[in-house]
Amino acid sequence: MSDIEIAQQANMKPIIGLVKEQYGIDAEHLDPYGHYKAKMSLEYVNSLSDKEDGKLILVTAISPTPAGEGKTTTTVGLGDAMNRIGKKTMMCLREPSLGPCFGVKGGAAGGGYSQVVPMEDINLHFTGDFHAIGVAHNLLSALIDNHINHGNDLDIDPRRIQWKRVVDMNDRALRNIVVGMGGPANGYLREDGYDIVVASEVMAILCLATSRADLKERLGRIVIGYKSDRVTPVYARDLNAQGSMAALLKDAIKPNLVQTLENNIAIIHGGPFANIAHGCNTVSATKTALKLADYVVTEAGFGADLGAEKFIDIKCRMAGLKPSAVVLVATVRALKFHGGVVKEELNQENLAALEQGFENLERHLHNITHHYGLPCVVCINHFTFDTDAEIALLKNKCEALGAKCVVSKHWANGGAGAEELAHAVSDIVDNREPEFNYVYDENLSLWEKIEAIATKLYGAGSVTANPKVKAQLAAWNADYGKFPICMAKTQMSFTTNPNAKGAPSGHVVEISDVRLANGAGFIVAIAGDMMTMPGLPKVPAAERIDIDDNGKITGLF
Ligand code: ADP
Ligand code: MG
Repeated sequence: MSDIEIAQQANMKPIIGLVKEQYGIDAEHLDPYGHYKAKMSLEYVNSLSDKEDGKLILVTAISPTPAGEGKTTTTVGLGDAMNRIGKKTMMCLREPSLGPCFGVKGGAAGGGYSQVVPMEDINLHFTGDFHAIGVAHNLLSALIDNHINHGNDLDIDPRRIQWKRVVDMNDRALRNIVVGMGGPANGYLREDGYDIVVASEVMAILCLATSRADLKERLGRIVIGYKSDRVTPVYARDLNAQGSMAALLKDAIKPNLVQTLENNIAIIHGGPFANIAHGCNTVSATKTALKLADYVVTEAGFGADLGAEKFIDIKCRMAGLKPSAVVLVATVRALKFHGGVVKEELNQENLAALEQGFENLERHLHNITHHYGLPCVVCINHFTFDTDAEIALLKNKCEALGAKCVVSKHWANGGAGAEELAHAVSDIVDNREPEFNYVYDENLSLWEKIEAIATKLYGAGSVTANPKVKAQLAAWNADYGKFPICMAKTQMSFTTNPNAKGAPSGHVVEISDVRLANGAGFIVAIAGDMMTMPGLPKVPAAERIDIDDNGKITGLF
């Protein structure tokens, strides 16, 4: 059965009653969006502040491959399994973006028997958060062009506006556009472009904001471009944009509650890109879940070199969160891919390639335990094609490194298939106080922070950049020197070359550009090409998706 067919057979319970039953929360604190989705009021969220925090568990993965690793599936499966063994656990996930849904990837609500539901709603519009974020972003775009049209008192250089427009769709034709065509009545002619909504700084801001006041303050801090002297920034607050942007986000700021196929509660809130943003769900969702449950399982985008690093160095640092353990998801197929096997042959046993590709897992494992100082359980997300010999090899290699390694079958069997994983994780979390380190100290210079990430985690020999980039970073040290770095690098490799699989070392990481995300509060360092508006493949998933006369959706994976 496909993911959507399994999801459509779910035995969902009305969310208001379920939240009351499991967490004792009264209906007055929840805004129902239909029967199976609800938002939690910020007043209620704030009322929890004195409660003790539960334990935070991060699910991350080896370097992604086209073979798929299953972070979201594992997050849901582990959460369900923890609840099965009597550990009160809530899951925190990211909201899916429409672009990838209709492109290559399909939905992002887990898979097999480890999913969150209602799957169609979560993947399509959900509670409207992305719409609100897109409109808030585009309101600022409209205010910028309007200000220039009415005399440009702020002296904004129309050629140095960095605030683009956004839409939640993969549409490469919009990457570079011209606005203001049609003569003086239609504003100033200038080059512009579109990013996908998840790449908007408003998305990153919403995910890091801790209150409505903090949201507004961060929105006002956004640098939209520069004045004609080329160096003086123009802020969103100079255009008085922050109040109306925050008003548009009045509901988007509230966490969304849904359930898994096994009727456990998950919060799905926020979904920033994992390249030019930090790729984690909202701070408010994670903090709320930690107040309500004893354990919280969450995920971060891409592999552990990007997702886990930003989760730790950006999200945990800013929000004062402290994870207790990490689950590193790997598949036999993906490791064989790292060992040089082509996609078409991944379902055949190949011990030599598996052994070779293991170096990718080993590097991530080392980073997690050594550089982040966190205990780690390796989860082999089981595929039906995996052979006994392959599983045995993988387990032996992990154990030789002193790492706990568990084969998990949650995709096929739901929470019951992940009980061993749940026991392994809770054994660690209940009995060990991790040391937990950031990868770099906040007092290092911006350049030193980039070097620390690249040399410690990526195994790079050195980091280079042209003098302009270096000068820009040096200039920012004065005002923004405490900001963490948000690395934008290919997720496919420890290097900047997506085809360099395994665990290369001694390579050069070149920083081609840097950007100030002042509202979010980080500096984006771009290593290699970076996509902020994806395109659709030749045959997009959109061609398979359909709805019948009864409103039943098919083809959404
Ligand atoms: P990620 O969050 O790492 O991008 P997902 O959890 O969304 O990955 O999984 C990607 C896809 O792979 C989903 O369609 C899911 O159904 C599928 N998948 C995950 N685990 C398995 C498995 N063990 N066997 C078969 N398919 C799987
Ligand atoms: Mg995912």
